[in-house]
Amino acid sequence: MTQDRIAALRAALAGTLDAAGFIGPEDIGDRHRVDWKGMRGEPLAVLRPATPEAVAATMRVLHALRQPVVVQGGMTGLVHGGVPLQGEVVLSLERLNRIEEVDPVSSTATVQAGVPLETLQAAAQAHGMFFPVDIGSRGSCLVGGIVSTNAGGNRVLRYGMTRSSVLGLEVVLPDGTVVSRLGRMIKDNAGYDLKHLFVGSEGTLGIVTRAVLVLQPAPATRDTALVALPGFPAAIDLLKACRRRLGARLTSFEAMWSDYFGFVSGPMGIGRDPFAAPHPLYILVETMGMEAERDREVLTEALAEFVEAHPGADAVLASSLAEAGELWRIRDSSGEAVRAIAPSAGFDVSLPIEAMEGWVASIHAALRGIGLSVFQTYGHVADGNLHLVVGYPADQPGQKTRINDLVYRSIGELGGSVSAEHGVGLEKKPYLPLSRSPAEIALMRSLKAAIDPHGLLNPGRIFDA
Ligand SMILES: Cc1cc2nc3c(=O)[nH]c(=O)nc-3n(C[C@H](O)[C@H](O)[C@H](O)COP(=O)(O)OP(=O)(O)OC[C@H]3O[C@@H](n4cnc5c(N)ncnc54)[C@H](O)[C@@H]3O)c2cc1C
Repeated sequence: MTQDRIAALRAALAGTLDAAGFIGPEDIGDRHRVDWKGMRGEPLAVLRPATPEAVAATMRVLHALRQPVVVQGGMTGLVHGGVPLQGEVVLSLERLNRIEEVDPVSSTATVQAGVPLETLQAAAQAHGMFFPVDIGSRGSCLVGGIVSTNAGGNRVLRYGMTRSSVLGLEVVLPDGTVVSRLGRMIKDNAGYDLKHLFVGSEGTLGIVTRAVLVLQPAPATRDTALVALPGFPAAIDLLKACRRRLGARLTSFEAMWSDYFGFVSGPMGIGRDPFAAPHPLYILVETMGMEAERDREVLTEALAEFVEAHPGADAVLASSLAEAGELWRIRDSSGEAVRAIAPSAGFDVSLPIEAMEGWVASIHAALRGIGLSVFQTYGHVADGNLHLVVGYPADQPGQKTRINDLVYRSIGELGGSVSAEHGVGLEKKPYLPLSRSPAEIALMRSLKAAIDPHGLLNPGRIFDA
């Protein structure tokens, strides 16, 4: 039966995809079967169109066959959205890897969905500009993936999430219709701004094939400091001081609790702890600016003033790019840190900043109450986003659901979000009602039914139809 289906797909797509565009089950590698977190699926086939037009033509064929499809970018998503479920074919955007234009006048880049984030960043830099979205998976994740998940990262505080950098979008709908608005104008209020429907919809409404992305002027200065703090109230003071003293220069404010910082810079041997004694909390502060003479001075003054006013606080300012890189490596090594304590349950939640201290203390206590003590706590803080990773014994797989229930219920009670930036995918589907009302979920379902009445695109991700 399955073999018949695969043969029918191969025959129906023969005039649409070239030889490299159809991979049958015997030749499918782990790149398309397994996601970054290790979940595995068995697709009927992998389809790799080489152009946006071929994506549309492929979808027309699949729609006629009523064939369910899962869309894949770099497979670095953290909620299993790209893992093929039974009976699905994979549609990979990896061959759509052209940077079509970098326009210094409108400060935009028009790129295909399969361009890796790091390649886009380098192209912007080569033109004296800067693409501000930056995440640890930059070498592997693709533009279509960051748009479809509305990725956040380390510079949201200043530049917003990916959505803020999307000016135009081309999308293929489940029936193969191409909806294209690759505009370069910031102002365009002619009716609904449809691109926002697709940004962050995790491939459930349409396939992103091209995007017009906003580039920023390349900063002339970039300074990094690490501040060690006696506790969370000092972090709030530091955030206020940084906002007041640094203004638009402030690009990152990354918090690492000692359970994360101590583990990565200690047993894992990554980066370097520059302080003589351990502290409960560490904040990585990054500034970018245009005034080579003044920017570093402003940061130095702000930190000196802060440390003087806060007993128990300490700060170091990186004196070279290499030193800054060492400090950032500690924060950027969250992926390696998660793997080092596997199995674990990982969380990407948001909550009001003033509730963070109490939440971290109470959730750590509740988890200790069920016999768990391996935690990694860190996050972007200034945008309300915290990450928590909880290790559990490999011989107690049932703990994962208990941990999920505890964490998500506590976030729901605070009016927070069960997904600050990674999305819902398959992993957080049961917990969506803790962060979205029945009316909101009903509207999401109506939109899905209107655009994808046969439920062919990424079915069962975010919510069940
Ligand atoms: C080490 C590491 C660090 C990370 N750090 C961050 C972080 O700081 N902030 C953050 O927000 N995220 C972070 N992420 C997760 C983040 O979601 C992904 O890295 C990235 O956004 C996904 O891109 P991808 O190309 O790998 O997409 P995939 O994993 O392939 O896909 C992700 C989802 O988008 C859909 N999709 C992919 N491409 C398209 C397309 N062209 N059209 C329609 N749907 C599509 C897929 O079906 C799937 O549902 C991190 C991940 C890793 C591994």
